[in-house]
Amino acid sequence: MVRGYVFLWWDTELERLSLLGRAGAGADLGRGTLMSKEFDFVIVGGGSAGAVIATRLSEDTGCSVALVEAGGPPPDHEMMPAAVASLQLDPQFDWMFTADPGNAGLGLRDKRMAVPRGKMLGGSSGLNYMAYVRGHPGDFDHWAAQGATGWSYDDVLPYFIKSEDLKPSNEIAIDSEAHGTGGPLGVSVRSPVIPASRDFVKAAETTGIPTGDYNGRNRGGAAGVASLFQTTTRNGMRSSTYRAFLQGPVESRSNLTIIPHAHVTKVVLSGDAGNRTATGIEYRDAEGATHSITATREVILSAGAVGSPQILMLSGIGPRREIEAVDIECLHELPGVGKNLKDHLHCPLFFEAAGIGLPVAQVGISAGPDALRAPAGPLPADPADDASLPPELADLKAEAERRLTEWTQTGESLVSSSLYDAVAFFSTGLGDEHSHDAQIGYVPCGYDASLLGERLRIDLDTFFADPAKTLAADQENMLLLANPVLPHSKGEIVLESADPMAPPIIRMNYFTDPHDLKVMVAVMRKCLDIAANWPGEIQPGPLNVPPALAKKHGYVEGGPLSDALLENMALHYSTTVYHLCSTCRMGEVVDPELRVNGIANLRVADASVMPDIISGNTNAASIMIGEKASDMIIAEYALKQSDAA
Ligand SMILES: Cc1cc2nc3c(=O)[nH]c(=O)nc-3n(C[C@H](O)[C@H](O)[C@H](O)COP(=O)(O)OP(=O)(O)OC[C@H]3O[C@@H](n4cnc5c(N)ncnc54)[C@H](O)[C@@H]3O)c2cc1C
Repeated sequence: MVRGYVFLWWDTELERLSLLGRAGAGADLGRGTLMSKEFDFVIVGGGSAGAVIATRLSEDTGCSVALVEAGGPPPDHEMMPAAVASLQLDPQFDWMFTADPGNAGLGLRDKRMAVPRGKMLGGSSGLNYMAYVRGHPGDFDHWAAQGATGWSYDDVLPYFIKSEDLKPSNEIAIDSEAHGTGGPLGVSVRSPVIPASRDFVKAAETTGIPTGDYNGRNRGGAAGVASLFQTTTRNGMRSSTYRAFLQGPVESRSNLTIIPHAHVTKVVLSGDAGNRTATGIEYRDAEGATHSITATREVILSAGAVGSPQILMLSGIGPRREIEAVDIECLHELPGVGKNLKDHLHCPLFFEAAGIGLPVAQVGISAGPDALRAPAGPLPADPADDASLPPELADLKAEAERRLTEWTQTGESLVSSSLYDAVAFFSTGLGDEHSHDAQIGYVPCGYDASLLGERLRIDLDTFFADPAKTLAADQENMLLLANPVLPHSKGEIVLESADPMAPPIIRMNYFTDPHDLKVMVAVMRKCLDIAANWPGEIQPGPLNVPPALAKKHGYVEGGPLSDALLENMALHYSTTVYHLCSTCRMGEVVDPELRVNGIANLRVADASVMPDIISGNTNAASIMIGEKASDMIIAEYALKQSDAA
C-alpha cells in the first residue's frame, strides 16, 4: 500500500514547541455550567455563516446570543494550510459523511463519494482548501432574477467587502474598489509563490484566458479570467471564521454563550398547524444527555447544507411523505426541504511533471519533524528515539525544525497554502451565459496517497499503472482540476431514520443531467490545451490515463483522446469540490429575508439557502450570507452594532 505523510501531519509538533506563542484555541470556551437557558437568539452551527452571525448579533451588549455547535474549537494544526487534509476522517473535526454519487464515482472505493464537513467552531471553513472566490456577478443577478429580492450583485458586494481584510500583493491584479482591507477575514496570496503556479496562469493566458481579478466587479466575458488564488489566510495561516471572527475578545463577550460539543436534535415549535412558532432547540451533550434552551426572539439554523435540512426534517418541517416514512410527525409541510442539492464535481487530470511539480517530501520537511515520522516518513515514530539519529536524519530534522519555525514567525513557507494555488474561469459556450460555467484549479503537486486514496476515495490501483512509483514522496507531479461550475443535475438530502445522531442519506445525482458531462469534457479539453501550452523548455509529461480505460478506448500514450474516453474518466474519477448548497433554497424553503416559510421566529442562514450554486468555491458566499443575514436581523430588532469589544 502507498502511503503519504504530509497530509496526515499531526499537531503534536506545534503544541510541543509552543511556536504559536499563545494559549490553545478556545481557552475561554466550554464554561462548565450553562448559566442561562434563555437567550434572545439561538444560533445552531458555528461554521462559515454561523460564526459571523454570532459575532455580529453579540456586538449589541444588550442582546443575549447562544451559539450551539456540535464540535469544539479547532486544533492548532488547522492553521497550517498544507496540513488541510489531516482534519478529514477525524471524527472530532469531520462529520465524515459519504454520498451516493449518482452516475459518477465508478472508480471510487465502494462507489461512494466522501463528503467531509467541518465539525468545529469555524465549521467547514476550518477544513477547507482556503480558496477565496466570491462567484461571478451574474450568479447573484441570476439569484435576484429568480425571486431572491435584495440578493443581486450590487446588493451583496458590500457584505463581501465588509468581512474582508485583503493583504495587497504584487503577484495578482486587484480591483481595489471591490475589496475590503479592515474586516476580520484574512485574505492573501501565498508566499512564496510556487513558480509552476505562475506558469499555469501564463499557459492559461496563451490559450486565450486573460489574467485579472476574478473577485473583481468585472470577471470578463466568455474568455474569462486567470490568476493565482486569493486565499483565506493571514500571515501564511488559515483564517477560518473561528480564527477570524470568534477567537479572542469575541468568544469572551459576556452576552455570547458558546455551547460546544452540543449536537442539536430539533427545533422546538409551539402553536397549531398553520400557526407554528420556533421557541428554542434541543441538543445532546457529549455524554448523551438532552438539554433544551429557549429563544425569545429567533432560532437561526446555520448548520450547513446537510445539517440545516436534516434538523428541519427532524423537527417535522419538510416533505410530508419522507418525514412520515421515518415515523416523525409532519408539523409543517415544506416540500423543498432537502431538495435542489447542488455541488461541484471536478475531474483530476494528473501529470507527471519533472522539473515543474513540487515533491511532497519538500512540503513534508516544511511541515516540521512530526510530518516526517514513521510509519510513512524516515524519522522514528517516537521523538524520544531521536537521540540516536544518524547524521543525515539529524540534519533532516534540523532543517524541518528550521522551516517550521520560519513559517510560524514569518508566514513564508511551502506550507502556507493548501497547494490549490491558481485558477482560471471561462465559458464553454454550452449555455448559462449569465456567468462562467467552467473553472480549472491548479495544484503544483500531485498530493499523496493519503489524500487521493483515503480522503478522495480514488481507487489508486486502477487510476495509476504504478501508484507506488507515481506517488513516491520525491516525485514531481501536478494536477489540473476540470470543474464545471454551473451543473444542472440536482441531488437531495433525505432522512434515513428518526435518530438525530444518524447521518442523513445524501444523493448527489451527479451527471444525471446529460448537459453536465458535455461541459465536463469541454473543460477537460481546455485543461489539456493549457498543459500543451506550458511556458518554457520543461514541459509536463503526458496525461495520466487509467490503464483499464486506455485499453477499453484503444488509447496509446500521446495519441488522440476521444470524447468517450474523457467521459469515462470523468464518470470514474471525478470527486466532489465540497460545495454542497441550495437544500433550503430561497424561494422554496426560506423567503429573501431567510425566514422559513410558514414558521415564525425561525431562519436559515448558510450555504443551504443559495437559490442556485455559484460559479466558484462557496466559502466566501457563505460568509457573505452570514453578514447579510446579520444585518437583516439587526435592522428588524433595532440592535446596536459595534457596541461590544
Ligand atoms: C474539504 C472542504 C474543502 C473546501 N474547500 C473550499 C475552498 O477552498 N474554498 C471555498 O470557498 N469553499 C470551500 N469549501 C466549501 C466551504 O467551506 C463551504 O461551502 C462553507 O464552509 C459552508 O458554510 P456553512 O456555514 O453553510 O456550513 P459549515 O461551515 O459547514 O458550518 C456548519 C456548522 O454547523 C455545525 N452543525 C451541523 N449540524 C449540527 C447539529 N445538528 N448541531 C450542532 N451543530 C451542527 C457543524 O459542525 C458546522 O460547524 C470546502 C469545503 C470542504 C468540506
